[in-house]
Amino acid sequence: MSSSTVWPVNSNEKKLDVVIVGGGVCGTVCAIALARRGIYPHVYEAAAKFGEIGAGIVVGYNAVRILRSIGVFHDILKHAGEDPKDPSTLNKTFRFFSGMDGHELVYDYPHDLEGGNFGIARSVFLDALIGHIDPNHTHFNKRCTSVTQPVPGTNSRSIVHFSDGTSVEADVVLLANGIRGSGREAVTGRDPKEDVVFSNVVCYRGLVPVEEAKKVGVKADLDKRPACFMGIDKHLIMFPIRGGKVINIVAFVIDRTVDVGAIRLPSDHPLVVPVTKEEMLKEYEGWGSDVIGVLSCIENPNKWYINVVYPPLMAYAKGRVALLGDAAHGMTPHLGAGAGQGIEDAYLLSRLLAHPQTTVESIPDIFDIYSQIRRPRAQSVWDGSLRASNIYEGYGEHGSSNEGRVQDLTGLWSFVWHHNADDDYIEARTLLEERGVFKV
Ligand SMILES: Cc1cc2nc3c(=O)[nH]c(=O)nc-3n(C[C@H](O)[C@H](O)[C@H](O)COP(=O)(O)OP(=O)(O)OC[C@H]3O[C@@H](n4cnc5c(N)ncnc54)[C@H](O)[C@@H]3O)c2cc1C
Repeated sequence: MSSSTVWPVNSNEKKLDVVIVGGGVCGTVCAIALARRGIYPHVYEAAAKFGEIGAGIVVGYNAVRILRSIGVFHDILKHAGEDPKDPSTLNKTFRFFSGMDGHELVYDYPHDLEGGNFGIARSVFLDALIGHIDPNHTHFNKRCTSVTQPVPGTNSRSIVHFSDGTSVEADVVLLANGIRGSGREAVTGRDPKEDVVFSNVVCYRGLVPVEEAKKVGVKADLDKRPACFMGIDKHLIMFPIRGGKVINIVAFVIDRTVDVGAIRLPSDHPLVVPVTKEEMLKEYEGWGSDVIGVLSCIENPNKWYINVVYPPLMAYAKGRVALLGDAAHGMTPHLGAGAGQGIEDAYLLSRLLAHPQTTVESIPDIFDIYSQIRRPRAQSVWDGSLRASNIYEGYGEHGSSNEGRVQDLTGLWSFVWHHNADDDYIEARTLLEERGVFKV
């Protein structure tokens, strides 16, 4: 873990008490973004310490711009063992291969001067972030059970209730506690369980040292750029982490015989279960040697059941409570963009809360505009992610031929990467000026 920042005491310039529930990627980025602008929130996390489950994550350029602007990107690259001066660090675009033997290269996603992804181990990513949060502002073993909105027309505050019977008051509550999102009812007015369905997607995940893959004869060079191996109803994503020494593997199987939303897993259904290598390999019988080779190197694979927020929420905020990250728009991972959307949410929230004219009284209007701007954007990525999986698995608009897939893959990430979160802020500020909340 990196050495931790200590935030100034009693110098909350705006005198705004902000509580963030959830210390995952989106909650921590939000905390840092706020602190950079003089608001020092408290983060309440259910677990006993910060920690990410799952192996790797790719971060797109839209999120990279934000991480840079809040001053953490350099540190993240350092933790990841990447050279910040090497231009190829950010130009790790996908190559798309046939999943079948021969592994023909179908499409090489072009490098883009501005765009790009980089892959990082989740634990390393979070470790780099938490070094920028004051430990005195983090509270563990605090599982939020519900949130009470302030009583309108009074000067009461929002209250976050925890499973240990304690509670905390705040001017503003930001719920970044993931897809199961306890407390979300303060925004939606309904049981948070009703907002979550099974996406009909399962995936097998694991890590393989590059050297091990080479030893079993894997030929594809998987240590430099992400790769997608495509088939019908299945695809695999592999990308390098830990400075190219380890391959992160996510092998997807999608059931298209039922619509998204038709199945709701019981709320106590585990999202991750251990599986045998045999079960995983059986799913990919008949696939090419590189796919089988890499999968056979995974020790102790896990199977993930992917839930999503569906149907889309009508609002991401109400009163003085706002949702961000997966709590607002948990989506399928096929564009590797879910965390990036939460990072965009966090950035807009931080800029609006830190605006010099923001007051406790104006928060409901500000959150209303936040919701108006973020909902269509995050939903477009939610929809784009489903479209991406259709292309990878042979159900794109132009079909499953190589030519058809190339047509559909061209420009796939453009709308994700080239979104500038500062434009969200400018639009929000303009709308708040038009509403008379901010003076011009
Ligand atoms: C297989 C897979 C691959 C993915 N790959 C990518 C990728 O490559 N790129 C990408 O951008 N996204 C990817 N995603 C999506 C990404 O993981 C999520 O969008 C992101 O982790 C959401 O972050 P979050 O902070 O909103 O929620 P979470 O990561 O779920 O964090 C929520 C935090 O809140 C805590 N918490 C939960 N409940 C409570 C409570 N009641 N009270 C207090 N604390 C609580 C949790 O312990 C946790 O620390 C992937 C997802 C999956 C499933």
